[in-house]
Amino acid sequence: MCKNSDVLIVGAGFFGAVIAERLAVDSGIKVCVIDKRPHIGGNCYSSVDDETGVECHHYGSHIFHTSNERCWNYLLNFTQFNAYRHVVHTKYRNQVYTMPINLGTINAFYGCNLTPSDAASFIRHEVERSDVKHPVNLEEKAISLIGRPLYDAFIKGYTLKQWETDPRELPADVITRLPMRFDYNTRYFDDVHEGIPLNGYSRLFERMLDHPNIEVCLNTNFFDLGERCKNYELIVYSGPIDQYFNYSEGRLNWRTVRFDMQRHDCSDYQGCSVMNYADSWIPFTRIHEFKHFHPERQQLQSTITYTEYPQAASQNWDPFYPVNTPRDLELLQKYNVLAQQENRVIFGGRLGYYRYIDMDDTIMAALDCYENEIRSRIALRLI
Ligand SMILES: Cc1cc2nc3c(=O)[nH]c(=O)nc-3n(C[C@H](O)[C@H](O)[C@H](O)COP(=O)(O)OP(=O)(O)OC[C@H]3O[C@@H](n4cnc5c(N)ncnc54)[C@H](O)[C@@H]3O)c2cc1C
Repeated sequence: MCKNSDVLIVGAGFFGAVIAERLAVDSGIKVCVIDKRPHIGGNCYSSVDDETGVECHHYGSHIFHTSNERCWNYLLNFTQFNAYRHVVHTKYRNQVYTMPINLGTINAFYGCNLTPSDAASFIRHEVERSDVKHPVNLEEKAISLIGRPLYDAFIKGYTLKQWETDPRELPADVITRLPMRFDYNTRYFDDVHEGIPLNGYSRLFERMLDHPNIEVCLNTNFFDLGERCKNYELIVYSGPIDQYFNYSEGRLNWRTVRFDMQRHDCSDYQGCSVMNYADSWIPFTRIHEFKHFHPERQQLQSTITYTEYPQAASQNWDPFYPVNTPRDLELLQKYNVLAQQENRVIFGGRLGYYRYIDMDDTIMAALDCYENEIRSRIALRLI
């Protein structure tokens, strides 16, 4: 365990790594970063498979995208990005379509050749025909946005698999909008900046944490430290908030995913990085083929896929997506009150906030937390 550090950072994902980097470089403070996993990078961790040479994202495909210039410029200190632009395909009844629904999807699905304005009126008509005036569940909400046929094909089975719950039993406010385009733009994200770190996510994290003021201890669980935590002036905790309080108010619900990894003796397995599977009778939701994230790299002879199976998170599974039932939100409020009473501890990141947040929002939350909360505490101490 690190000696002579003033601040303990629990979690070497983006939240912990950004705060560690800022403390070390901007405030000149010694920090100790621990992670219970054997690697840095949190859920963004990637590594190159020895057998195939393919760089795999171990916790699912991670595509960096942002329109926030501060976030983008901050990351450019540690990495360059390649020119990858994300496009998602969906298989339904053995046909392949692009997602989110665009003019190409609509024309292929309905077997027609509509112009953008014809397609917009056609979908309006489909929505009216479905006759859902006051949606009370996810199914009705989705139908009120895109009409029943597109819902049945692209949303119903996928949602059922992802949440293992009938969409009629999920609250309407799970979705506020379903992106739909009336042109042939197939890009998944609309952000100004997008790409994959040129040398991979792990290299990015290595560079962030490579500083004489930062010590990293892997395979180290915060809950095993016991009395040793008392030595730190400040703890930045990016683990699950309910676990910190020993689940005193109850457990927050998470969904997780299981990946089935396969190496293939061909140079290209599916022709794209992510293929969704919309049919409810197919037990998985997506297949990731990571080599497509690096079109600039030398072409490899073989490839790797990860097939994604969603499931409920039990005690031994990594939490991935917060379920956010009304009970969860009530529990979260109670935990947030407890968190405010922990003067020496700052909670953050996707597990600490119990919120799904993209990488850019995590980085911005960490930068803001450092600037608005941590820096002033450090300055006071130094005066
Ligand atoms: C399947 C999936 C795909 C995603 N794809 C994208 C994408 O394409 N683009 C995008 O922008 N975002 C994506 N995200 C979101 C992205 O993963 C998060 O924004 C990011 O990982 C959040 O960083 P974090 O530091 O908050 O959490 P994490 O990366 O989870 O880091 C938290 C760390 O804390 C450690 N920890 C927890 N408890 C303890 C403990 N007791 N002791 C020690 N260490 C502990 C964990 O081991 C973990 O390493 C995706 C998320 C998921 C689930």
